[in-house]
Amino acid sequence: MTDDSGEPFRFETRSIHAGQEPDRETGALMTPIHANSTYEQDAPGEDRGYEYSRTANPTRTDLEANLASLEDGDYGRAFSSGMGAINTLLNLLEAGDHVVTGDDIYGGTYRIFREVYEDYDLSFSFVDTRDLAAVEEAMRPETELVFLETPTNPLMRITDVEGAADLADEYGALCAVDNTFATPYLQRPLELGADVSVQSLTKYLGGHSDVVGGALLTDDADLDERIGFYQNSVGATPGPHDCFLVLRGTKTLPVRMDRHCENARAIADWLDDHPAVSAVHYPGLESHPQHDLAAEQMDDFGGMLSFELDATLEEASDVVSNTEVFTLAESLGGVESLIEQPAAMTHASIPREERLEAGLTDGLIRASVGIEHVDDLIEDLDQAMDAAGLG
Ligand SMILES: *Cc1c(COP(=O)(O)O)cnc(C)c1O
Repeated sequence: MTDDSGEPFRFETRSIHAGQEPDRETGALMTPIHANSTYEQDAPGEDRGYEYSRTANPTRTDLEANLASLEDGDYGRAFSSGMGAINTLLNLLEAGDHVVTGDDIYGGTYRIFREVYEDYDLSFSFVDTRDLAAVEEAMRPETELVFLETPTNPLMRITDVEGAADLADEYGALCAVDNTFATPYLQRPLELGADVSVQSLTKYLGGHSDVVGGALLTDDADLDERIGFYQNSVGATPGPHDCFLVLRGTKTLPVRMDRHCENARAIADWLDDHPAVSAVHYPGLESHPQHDLAAEQMDDFGGMLSFELDATLEEASDVVSNTEVFTLAESLGGVESLIEQPAAMTHASIPREERLEAGLTDGLIRASVGIEHVDDLIEDLDQAMDAAGLG
């Protein structure tokens, strides 16, 4: 989306307008919800751009164009969930292919790799992608995909996207980055050299905890065409109501993210000074081991953080059970603050020994910092720690 002189409009402008023209027939400002499955043809094979809504739907078209613009990609494809998007990305591979990925990726991604696609004869190497030498060591002649997540969940580890994308390129593999935590407002993997950016729209892009969706964005026309073939063949496409909700969400992404970042920063600072807290994982803190890399490839540090209490599993459970403003729940990225205990919730399926080795201690707490007043959030954490005897 460009102005008269061909200069692209800025992110805040594109988040509201890209992909969205007032409705041609009525002038309605908002993209209509085209609740519709099939389309009239003027003569056999002469449609007006739409034949069947699994293949394309006008509400989805607007969303896909909007998301592509935000990720600085030329092409976007929307899916019924983040996992639907990742599944379709994996459809680009063939039996015998190999994937290099992180050792602390999202649990659902780990599950689809290990429990679904290993059975289809894909193989996966899980490495600490902070270390590009480890990524390179894992590359094989049959490696076709490097799949990264940065920052990671819940330890907020950062991978050098540009370095990893260069490596993938050198070995003839695609580089995909799950950009859900950062959002395109803070980080644009395609600009950093990745081939595909992956989004769970369920999180910040939807932003209101009221819709599940996913997307794949790219600036490569051939790649987009292949993704489109599988999108239509597999059919994990979102309905028009869902697309409408995400389009409504992206309009406020920049203002929401600014507040998420500001609140998370203040809470990270407060936690850092708390005597019961032994570590705070937030890339915005100068003490974060990869703060400089984060500052280089991200515009700000996001709304997710985690912290470790000098506490037992039970004491940490008490803290997350006693918050009043923070809701005890999985998921993230909505306007409301959420809190959870990975050892007992999102990462409970990992055997304890393995979990501890991965740095996921019993006292680890993850927060998705919302956009409420930050003083209420800090006072809430303070009273919950007091109630758990950790004041
Ligand atoms: C939630 C999430 C997913 C999966 O998305 P769904 O919309 O839940 O299917 C993938 N990656 C990350 C980082 C996520 O947080």
